[in-house]
Amino acid sequence: MNDVAARLAAVETAIAEAARRHGRDAAAVRLVAVSKRQPAAALRAAHAAGQRRFGENYLQEAQAKQEALADLDLEWHFIGVIQGNKTAAIAERFDWVHTVDRARIATRLNDQRPAGRAPLKVLLQVNISGEASKGGVLPAELPALVAQVRGLPQLDLRGLMALPAPHADPAAQRAAFAAVARLARECGPGLDELSIGTSDDFASAIAEGATLVRLGTAVFGPRPAAA
Ligand SMILES: *Cc1c(COP(=O)(O)O)cnc(C)c1O
Repeated sequence: MNDVAARLAAVETAIAEAARRHGRDAAAVRLVAVSKRQPAAALRAAHAAGQRRFGENYLQEAQAKQEALADLDLEWHFIGVIQGNKTAAIAERFDWVHTVDRARIATRLNDQRPAGRAPLKVLLQVNISGEASKGGVLPAELPALVAQVRGLPQLDLRGLMALPAPHADPAAQRAAFAAVARLARECGPGLDELSIGTSDDFASAIAEGATLVRLGTAVFGPRPAAA
């Protein structure tokens, strides 16, 4: 598991380097370690190396790790597709949800966030590349969803999330991320968080204003095959 510590250190350096190159404060870019399909021991090793923020895609898998790691002070980010019958557990178990993309799901999360807790921090996922197969609200429908979510007291709307179609070319990567940043400005104020960038394109995302980068492979190495 020293592997995880070494990878994490390299990732932190690369994030800081990208921030510096683009005139940004490295402290303004936070790492969400994407731990899907990784065993609890890998998260524990990352925590021992200083990582607190973890992103999970699948509720049941996340729940098992949350129980195994209940002794640690971790911040949990839900970054997967949200099924309507899973919203109660997501509202109870997560600190952030990155993948809100429709009013019905937002309303359920709001209604199911336990009353004594701080409002759930949410990001709206935008389908920035217009891919039919991907989740996310279409840009044209974003302003209406923003208005609706702002009216939900148990949700704290913080910004936007996107997972653009993969591009090898950094200019194309940056163009897609820049479009997300522009949408956040157009729907602002208050949409200050941009959850953009994965292991393959985080430097481009940082260039365009990423505040949360979601890195899996770069932190943990290749994911084990699905069970
Ligand atoms: C898996 C996943 C990531 C991380 O991908 P890597 O290429 O391993 O960095 C980021 N965001 C989402 C939504 C994911 O599902």
